[in-house]
Amino acid sequence: MLSRFNLPASLRPTRNYVGGEFVETGRTFSNLCPVDGHELAQVHEADAALVDRAVRSARAAMAGPWGRSHVEERARLLHRVADIIERRFEDFLAAEVADTGRPLGQARQLDIYRGIHNFRTFADLGKLAHTDFFETRLGDGTELINYTKRKPLGVVASISPWNLPILSLTWKAAPALICGNAIVCKPSEETPSTATLVAEAFHEAGAPAGVFNVVHGFGPGSAGEALTTHGGVDAVTFTGESRTGAAIMKAVADGVKEVSFELGGKNAAIVFADADFDAAVEGIVRSSFTNAGQVCLCTERVYVERPLFERFVAALKARTEALQVGWPDQPGVFMGSLISHGHRDKVLSYFDLAVQEGATVVTGGRVPQFGDARDDGAFVLPTIWTGLADDARCMREEVFGPVCHLAPFDSEDEAIRRANDSAYGLASSVWTTNLSRAHRVTARLHVGIAWVNTWFSRDLRTPFGGSKLSGMGREGGRYSLDFYSETTNVSIKI
Ligand code: NAD
Repeated sequence: MLSRFNLPASLRPTRNYVGGEFVETGRTFSNLCPVDGHELAQVHEADAALVDRAVRSARAAMAGPWGRSHVEERARLLHRVADIIERRFEDFLAAEVADTGRPLGQARQLDIYRGIHNFRTFADLGKLAHTDFFETRLGDGTELINYTKRKPLGVVASISPWNLPILSLTWKAAPALICGNAIVCKPSEETPSTATLVAEAFHEAGAPAGVFNVVHGFGPGSAGEALTTHGGVDAVTFTGESRTGAAIMKAVADGVKEVSFELGGKNAAIVFADADFDAAVEGIVRSSFTNAGQVCLCTERVYVERPLFERFVAALKARTEALQVGWPDQPGVFMGSLISHGHRDKVLSYFDLAVQEGATVVTGGRVPQFGDARDDGAFVLPTIWTGLADDARCMREEVFGPVCHLAPFDSEDEAIRRANDSAYGLASSVWTTNLSRAHRVTARLHVGIAWVNTWFSRDLRTPFGGSKLSGMGREGGRYSLDFYSETTNVSIKI
């Protein structure tokens, strides 16, 4: 089928990258474009034997010069990779949009930009990082110096999701590599393309064989399980659903491997009556519907102070209905398709459930009709609900689609209590012009990231992660360097 969304030729078919070579396996699956349902490429699935080869080649790299490399050399490699991605920006952009159906402008400013920025940021942070040094005097007068030596963990397995493919993969690969590890990446089966292009960038940059590997496939019974259960892996960094995190935790338990988990969310926003009204409306539109709601940080629960409630619902409805949903490459389009028909079925099942649970559908709640090839794609309309009880399933479970529920509240304490009433604890946003309130409320929210009058603005040096079902550990800046390193304290008697 002719489509305006296609992959660069080198990705047709899409191959694994193992031990410095692009590898076909003969067993393939389809990568479908969610915008119009056409097949983008056949993807070669890695079986357990190929995953084993990838882990062995990563171990071999660690035993060779890479394992003894200096951070300066590693930083140079990461900068070269970033430069190659920048030079091939349009290939990366085409691949990310074709795989995900997200708007071109967002992929340009967020995904590909961050792919480059992750490499450059961690290359520089790694060079600047310092460790602890203490001069010690014991009770008997003995003098010591103590310093901390940072060393690589070894072979890191990275398992990433489909919602921000290049962003999540490079967010893990860049710090893992600057810390001197070798990495085997398993991108989502839904979005194998930009990971393979990153492999091409490492290949062109002259990375030693085995330092950076990509294996394609699914989770259970496929490359994901083979990788996380492999005895040669020293640590697992995972981004995805909370229940997958639980399965991986069980898989690594016997080996007591290090894990870093960035998992799901059911994020709340609190809009106080003293908020800048227009900024709050705009902020909630962005935080609920960016990337069709498929960002772990997206807002699905909005608590609005009662005096503002009716006006806020009306304004949000008007603003949402003005959003353009459609071709990702059409100027002005804010929302493209969901990732797949399978995911759309899940989102639509929540649309049905919400009605059964007593929701009022303020807008959306259905599939749009376009009368062209997009009707074979995985689109839904941005959706607003009101009227659900706090214990409704749609208020407790992550939908991961373009949907938010609005509820009124009467006091600061009540808003905080209801925002915290969740099994998840990833992110929240607070909309207020009262500075004291901003500090007071954010301090009491059980989340890893609390934004005030903004959302999704990230400084890569800050800690990122979630509490409760939303994750374990923090990555970002020195937190990433800490996770991807083993430290040894050296204690010397003077
Ligand atoms: P998912 O858990 O279904 O899949 C993520 C990855 O894990 C994929 O590569 C998949 O193949 C692999 N996988 C699945 N089962 C596995 C197993 N048993 N062993 C090893 N690998 C396995 O998640 P998804 O649907 O791709 O992504 C959406 C989810 O990711 C949402 O819940 C979202 O909130 C979460 N997410 C969280 C963050 C964060 O930073 N906290 C960021 C992005 C996405």
